[in-house]
Amino acid sequence: MSAATTRSRTPDRLCAEAVDIARAAAEEAAAPGVVGEHVETVVEGDRVVTHLFECKEFGYRGWRWAVTVARASRAKYVTLDEVVLLPGSDALLAPEWVPWSERLRPGDLGPGDLLPTESDDLRLEPGFSGEDTPPPNSPVSAEMAELVEAEDAEVSAGPVGELPIVPTRGSIAAVAEELGLRRARVLSRYGLHVAADRWEDTYGAKTPMAQAAPSTCVSCGFLCPIGGSLGQAFGVCANEFSPADGRVVSLSYGCGGHSEAAVMPTPPRPAPPVIDETVVDVLPLRPSADAGSVGAVAEGADDLGHS
Ligand code: SF4
Repeated sequence: MSAATTRSRTPDRLCAEAVDIARAAAEEAAAPGVVGEHVETVVEGDRVVTHLFECKEFGYRGWRWAVTVARASRAKYVTLDEVVLLPGSDALLAPEWVPWSERLRPGDLGPGDLLPTESDDLRLEPGFSGEDTPPPNSPVSAEMAELVEAEDAEVSAGPVGELPIVPTRGSIAAVAEELGLRRARVLSRYGLHVAADRWEDTYGAKTPMAQAAPSTCVSCGFLCPIGGSLGQAFGVCANEFSPADGRVVSLSYGCGGHSEAAVMPTPPRPAPPVIDETVVDVLPLRPSADAGSVGAVAEGADDLGHS
């Protein structure tokens, strides 16, 4: 018994009646026993009809086998067009595909993985690669190099008639490389800001650890300063007992391991014993009348000493 419904357009009678042909085609394409009830008949065009059967396969809830049949003009026979599995309105669907670059999370990068950076990555900007011309006020600019060369020539000119010795000068690229400046790209202003925000969130003043800390990292002996503009606000913690050991910490961060927070108390030392051998202590032999036997013993001892 078919639970077929039709749309407003009247389907071709022979195509609409070809449910058994459509079912046989669906069962041939699907695994045995997964083609369910006939649920709908859809008119695709003149003498073209799609029969929909529910899919009983686990994991395909709401999906339907769609079998399209067609009939040529004035032909008596219906022919099979195609068989596909299509999602219905309440079908269980996979989540929208997200590009890997948006799915990537911190910590996803494993050993041996390569993470390419886009050529227009906002966190980076061109660095000095030796191919571009440095600005006029740069210590490695051509103008500055000429000035220095002229000064050197004056100094090394020596006595009149002697040929000036021009010192061999390294190329701009070599100087930049020596200074560690020769990188194709460096952090952009945006890159610096997002890094600072991220570090501030993790090891910054607003974290519970910093709120409960006795003092801030800026005054801690375990703080290693870092160079560059980020060094004005961040450093690296080098206290193995701190939760931030080896991490970049904000100067306003802090923890209980602060070097000056609690100085270990020194154990009390007992006073050295005093033996006074120069003064004689006079002790009363009869300290009191009711001293009893103690006084008598002392008296006896006194008599013995004077006899
Ligand atoms: S030990 Fe604590 S206070 Fe000192 S630098 Fe590290 S995180 Fe900052």
